[in-house]
Amino acid sequence: MSNKQVDIGFLEEKCSWLLHPRFFPSKVGGKPAWLDLKNLPEPGGLTCKTCKEPLIFLCQVYAPFEESNDCFHRTIFIFICRKGSCCKINSAENFIILRCQLPRKNEYYSFEPYEENENEVFPMEKWAKMCNVCGLKAPSHCSKCKKVNYCSREHQILDWKKEHKTICPDLQEKSEPRLNCFTVTESGKSILFEEWEVDVDKEDEEEITVVDTNQELEKLKKMIEDEKVGTMSNIPDSEIEQYARSSSADKVYNRFSKRIARHPDQVLRYDRGGTPLWITENTVNNISIPKCQYCNGDRQFEFQIMPQLLNFINVGIELNSIDWGVLAIYTCKASCNDGPAYKEEFIIKQDLTNETM
Ligand SMILES: [Zn+2]
Ligand SMILES: [Zn+2]
Ligand SMILES: [Zn+2]
Ligand SMILES: [Zn+2]
Repeated sequence: MSNKQVDIGFLEEKCSWLLHPRFFPSKVGGKPAWLDLKNLPEPGGLTCKTCKEPLIFLCQVYAPFEESNDCFHRTIFIFICRKGSCCKINSAENFIILRCQLPRKNEYYSFEPYEENENEVFPMEKWAKMCNVCGLKAPSHCSKCKKVNYCSREHQILDWKKEHKTICPDLQEKSEPRLNCFTVTESGKSILFEEWEVDVDKEDEEEITVVDTNQELEKLKKMIEDEKVGTMSNIPDSEIEQYARSSSADKVYNRFSKRIARHPDQVLRYDRGGTPLWITENTVNNISIPKCQYCNGDRQFEFQIMPQLLNFINVGIELNSIDWGVLAIYTCKASCNDGPAYKEEFIIKQDLTNETM
């Protein structure tokens, strides 16, 4: 068993302007702080496979590969369908993961880090048009003022109803372009997740107790054997197997809860090349991780998003809202440069289902 140290992430309140792309943030909610500002993913590729509506930005993790020049800046983005009805148990169909990377010397950002100056001019509009509502690439605009852009008809209608109907006449009068497309608008607030910075730190080492899973499994096996000899002898094997499976799933769950109890508010565990801390044992054993579709190389586990994040982003507590146990993100081991600027990566969503609770 590994007790290698992992990095864990917590949410911190932060002024939105400090989460601007030029500061290379790890963040949750608001609009995506794109890394490559010109070659944004097409909005058609960021729609829900089930309901076909635009996906909403959930979070991004800034994770450079120090050993590679191409990955001096490197960010993984997670998008999700806002609708609870598109969220199925142990299926990640309502998600899309994108990886983007840039060398230190690039056409968007200065070689040296930016100072934290709120009034610094950094016109992102110069590179690409972004949706006034959600921040995705925006191929269309308001035909009246021509000053605000939209990824989709859905978001144009939403913005018109919430806000734009009243400000469009004013914008038509003005000659200068409208700047600061990174700011969350009123209509954005109605569908985007609450914005937070993700602050990443080392997990406390001293309290790590290595759980001897083998010993636990042996105990479990013995228990089942004993019971099989006794009162359970009439029960078909398949049922005993079921029992064994759910009991060992409880062990995984216990281990999960013990490990996170040290930092109950963690929303991210970063352990590149490591293994995810699963919430339950079933479901993930037979999922194979597909090879990178760009370089055909292997993928490895990089980080996981914890269910605690759901407590911070206003998803609602009604039965039919979006939910997950663990979101495990797998990325190209070589972090290759092939393919588009935003490369799709792989995600496993594991839920704590009723049968294991
Ligand atoms: Zn959907
Ligand atoms: Zn949009
Ligand atoms: Zn307008
Ligand atoms: Zn690759």
